[in-house]
Amino acid sequence: MTRFSRRRLLAGAIFANAFGGSLAGLAPRIANAAESNFATDSLPWHNWSGGQSSQPAGRFAPATEDQLIEFLGRDSAPLRPVGSGHSFSALVPTDGHIVVLDKLTGLRSHDPATLEATLGAGIRLAEIGPVIEEVGQGMFNLPDIDRQTLAGAISTATHGTGLALNTLSAYVSGLRLVTPSGKVMELDAAKEPGLFAAAQVSLGALGFVTEVRMRNRAAYRLKKTTRIQPTEDVLKDFEAQARAHSHYEMFPLTHSQYASVQIIDETDEPIHNPQSPPDQPDPYDELMRALVHVPVAARGAMINAAVTAAPPSEPVVDVSYRILANVRNYRFNEMEYSVPLDAGAPCLLEILRTIEEKQIDVVFPLEYRYVAGDDLWLSMFSGGPRASISVHRDARFDYRPYFDIVEPIFWKYGGRPHWGKVHTLKHDQLMKLYPKFADFLEMREALDPTGRMLNAHLRGLFGIAT
Ligand SMILES: Cc1cc2nc3c(=O)[nH]c(=O)nc-3n(C[C@H](O)[C@H](O)[C@H](O)COP(=O)(O)OP(=O)(O)OC[C@H]3O[C@@H](n4cnc5c(N)ncnc54)[C@H](O)[C@@H]3O)c2cc1C
Repeated sequence: MTRFSRRRLLAGAIFANAFGGSLAGLAPRIANAAESNFATDSLPWHNWSGGQSSQPAGRFAPATEDQLIEFLGRDSAPLRPVGSGHSFSALVPTDGHIVVLDKLTGLRSHDPATLEATLGAGIRLAEIGPVIEEVGQGMFNLPDIDRQTLAGAISTATHGTGLALNTLSAYVSGLRLVTPSGKVMELDAAKEPGLFAAAQVSLGALGFVTEVRMRNRAAYRLKKTTRIQPTEDVLKDFEAQARAHSHYEMFPLTHSQYASVQIIDETDEPIHNPQSPPDQPDPYDELMRALVHVPVAARGAMINAAVTAAPPSEPVVDVSYRILANVRNYRFNEMEYSVPLDAGAPCLLEILRTIEEKQIDVVFPLEYRYVAGDDLWLSMFSGGPRASISVHRDARFDYRPYFDIVEPIFWKYGGRPHWGKVHTLKHDQLMKLYPKFADFLEMREALDPTGRMLNAHLRGLFGIAT
C-alpha cells in the first residue's frame, strides 16, 4: 500500500507517548554571520523554518552597549533587532540593517536574597539554566525549546505551560532599553511602570533591550511523565489536572482520537534521565516522516491502533531546565492563538473536527496549554489566564491552505495571536483584542518618531502607512 511499515508506525507511536522530545536545533545563519561587529555583505537572512527571509543592507553585532549607541548615532537608516530567528511571523525581515545582540550575553549579577539574576539580553535560554544553577537559581518556566535569545523570547511573550506560570516576559523585573536615538533607559515597575509594561513585550519596536533582570526561584528538579489518552477525556478533566500539576499539557494527534499528555511536577527524587545514543535516529522525526507516506484517510485508524498498543513511557527526573525544553529538528511553521480558558475545549475540538472533516493532510500534533494571566500591555495573556492552541505544518509545504481554514476558528473564540507565530491580523482587529494597544502605539511613536524600527509587518500591525 505504501512504503510505510506497521513496525515503524509503532516505533513512532511509542515515541509519540514521549512527545516532549529532546536535543539540539540548528542555529539560523545570522548567528554565524556576526564574526566581525559590522558587515555590509548581502547574505540573505532567513528564520528557523525558512518561511521568512530578507536581504538586509548589512548586519551589526555590537560587542558592547556603547558600540550599539555609537552605531545608532551614525545615521537614521532602518534597523531591526534579531534574536535567534525563531519567530515564524515577519517581525525581523528588513532591507535595512539587522542588529544582533548575541555578544551581549552571560550572567552579570545576581541577588541571593531576591533570587533575581541580571543577564545580557542576547543570551540563549539554553545558556541561562546552567549559569543561574551555579548561583542556586532556576527559571520558573521555559517554552517548548530553548534556542531563543532572552530578549527575543520576552519580545513576543514567549511562554511554556502552567496554569500558575506566566510568560517569560512577566518574570522580567527590570531591563535596559537603548532607544532608536541612542538613549539608555533603565526600566522597572517602580521607576517607569507604563513604559516598563510596554517594553516587557515590545516586538522589537521600542528600541534594543540590552540587559534583562529575571525573577527566578531556588534551583529545583522536575519529574516528567507522558501518557496516551483519548483527547476528549483529557479535555473533560483538563482544568482540574492543570490545577493539580505545575505543568500540564497535551499534544492531540491529528486524525486520531488520542493525545499525548505531558505531566511535569517538582520532585526531590534522584536524577534519572537516560539519553538516547547520539547515532540513534530521532523517533519523533521518524514518526513524522513515516506518517507523511500514509494516505490521510488511513491515518486515524493506524494511529489509534498503534498508540493504544504502545507501552507507557518511563518517567524522567532532572534539573528543571533539562526537563522543560525539547529539541525540534523537524522544521515546521506554526500558528498559535490564545483563547479564554472556557473557550479552550470547544475551540480545540472544532479544529480537530475540521481537520478530520476536510481531510487536511497534516501529520503534526496540535499543542494545548494553559498559561497564567498578567498585566503586560501586549501580552497575549493580559487580563487573565488563557488556553493556547498551536497548529503546525511541515516547513516543506505551503502552510497557508491549512492555516487559512483554522485561523477563523480562533477568531470565533476570541483568540489573540502569538506575536512570534503566523497570523494575518492587522491594526483594526488588534485594537479590539488589546485594551492597551493604543497606549503602546503612543509610546512607540514617542520613542521612534521617524519609524526606523518599523518593517512592513509591524506597519500592518500598528496601522502605519508605508
Ligand atoms: C521550534 C520552535 C518552538 C517554539 N516554541 C515556543 C513555545 O513553546 N512557546 C512560545 O511562546 N513560543 C515558542 N516559539 C516561538 C519563539 O519563542 C518566539 O518567536 C521568540 O520570540 C523567538 O525568539 P528569538 O530569540 O529567536 O527572537 P527573534 O525571532 O529573532 O525575534 C523576535 C522578536 O524579538 C525582537 N528582538 C530580538 N532581540 C531583541 C533585542 N535585543 N531588543 C529588542 N527586540 C529584540 C525582534 O525584533 C523580534 O520582534 C517557538 C519557535 C520555534 C521555532
